[in-house]
Amino acid sequence: MNIQANLSQLKDSLPDQVTLVAVSKTKPASMILEAYNAGQRVFGENRAQELASKHDELPKDIEWHAIGHLQTNKVKYIAGFVSLIHAADSLKLLRVIDKEAKKHDRSIDCLLQIHIATEQTKYGFNAEEVVELLSSGAIDDLTNINVKGLMGMATFTEDHNIIENEFSGLSKLFTDIGSINAMNFEPSILSMGMSGDYGIAIDAGSNMIRVGSLIFGERS
Ligand SMILES: *Cc1c(COP(=O)(O)O)cnc(C)c1O
Repeated sequence: MNIQANLSQLKDSLPDQVTLVAVSKTKPASMILEAYNAGQRVFGENRAQELASKHDELPKDIEWHAIGHLQTNKVKYIAGFVSLIHAADSLKLLRVIDKEAKKHDRSIDCLLQIHIATEQTKYGFNAEEVVELLSSGAIDDLTNINVKGLMGMATFTEDHNIIENEFSGLSKLFTDIGSINAMNFEPSILSMGMSGDYGIAIDAGSNMIRVGSLIFGERS
């Protein structure tokens, strides 16, 4: 596994406006350091405790993103340092993030996870719910969060048309919510695309991709 070569090949293929989140979950600190030494600074993890211990261990100029489903009782482990939480999937979770951010006297950037896949097990809001959430004033009081955009995961399938439709739908929703005026809401990030589908996602308008196995190899 040549992490440096994988990274530079991937980066060369990305348009300038696309931020690469290197997904390092389950991978050891040594592999993260290899990517770091190749210039990568943004890393994503999906488990809060793993994120916190890697933050402790690794260089402090790394920007850590929490990418997967986050339980409310785990927010405390990452609230002091996390740069972006990709998968805020309920108002209850947003309230906890706000409360924990306050304790650290900081504001935490969040993305709202939208359920776009056909699989039942994935978390997230649907389109109507997110419009309602933003329009209702529900996050007005959450002054220690900043909702920066949307995140979604497409159905796990070989069928490009399905993936394309799901990403296009999310991209349209991202455009639509841009006209909503709400406190603590400054949309600029559309996080969609992983190792298997990031090209489709970028074509559909993604400006942040979360790529793991293509950089670090398959996870066991
Ligand atoms: C694991 C994970 C990724 C990266 O998956 P790869 O297929 O390895 O690129 C992206 N997003 C989320 C939310 C993940 O949990």
